[in-house]
Amino acid sequence: MRVQLLPSTFDAQGVANLEQRLTCFLIDDRVAVDAGSIAIASNNEQRIKVRDIIVTHPHMDHIASLPIYIDDLYPSLQEPMRIYATPEVIDLLERDVFNWNVYPRFSELTNNYGPVMEYIPIPIGKPFPVAHLTVCAVPVNHIVPTVGLVVSDGQKSVAFSSDTAETDEFWTIVNQMKDLDALLIETSFPNRMAKLAHVSRHFTPATLGQELKKLTHNGMDIMAVHLKPSYRDEIIEQLNALNIPKLSVMEPGRVYEW
Ligand SMILES: [Zn+2]
Ligand SMILES: [Zn+2]
Repeated sequence: MRVQLLPSTFDAQGVANLEQRLTCFLIDDRVAVDAGSIAIASNNEQRIKVRDIIVTHPHMDHIASLPIYIDDLYPSLQEPMRIYATPEVIDLLERDVFNWNVYPRFSELTNNYGPVMEYIPIPIGKPFPVAHLTVCAVPVNHIVPTVGLVVSDGQKSVAFSSDTAETDEFWTIVNQMKDLDALLIETSFPNRMAKLAHVSRHFTPATLGQELKKLTHNGMDIMAVHLKPSYRDEIIEQLNALNIPKLSVMEPGRVYEW
């Protein structure tokens, strides 16, 4: 399975910046987990292929360019863009984003080929298909309804925490996956901002270190994501000090293969 965290911004030479402002993971250039930077950083081949997008929660950094992505592709979509989310999140997207004020309600619109956007409500705790993948979603502990995901292609499995603070259900399904290859987990704030991390329901390196003790099996790659750009260096230093084997920071733009 190939997983790429799309970059959020590029420098003047077109080189991807390492700071992650927006969240969008592409799996096998075909399925997106969140869509923060999808319209900004996807290449032509990816734009042709990605028609399945899982939205973990409706925060702006996870959906910022989703409306633009659909808008850009509008005339050429020969099948609808499929948006997978829990019913609660679908309601929020329809109410707050695709509401005719912020942007058109694409779910009611068609082009020459038919509907351009379709919502697929996802179940909790029960595997469902997304393109060539099988996905299981569980609620995590964030300030809006949010799910973490375990994604499998039949050979390899990768878990995505999405945005969360301390949680248990996610670890239950992660611990059930005996052959998990990678865990992508958020670490938003440095330790000195524990209070803000707590109220906004995010991890610091210290709380992440505690949380990882809930993992009952080891050996998978653990990739920290969602580091707030202003504190990136400080968070990395504190993550390194945890001395957790196979823990590293995921680089935007780089393709990881498991
Ligand atoms: Zn969030
Ligand atoms: Zn976020």
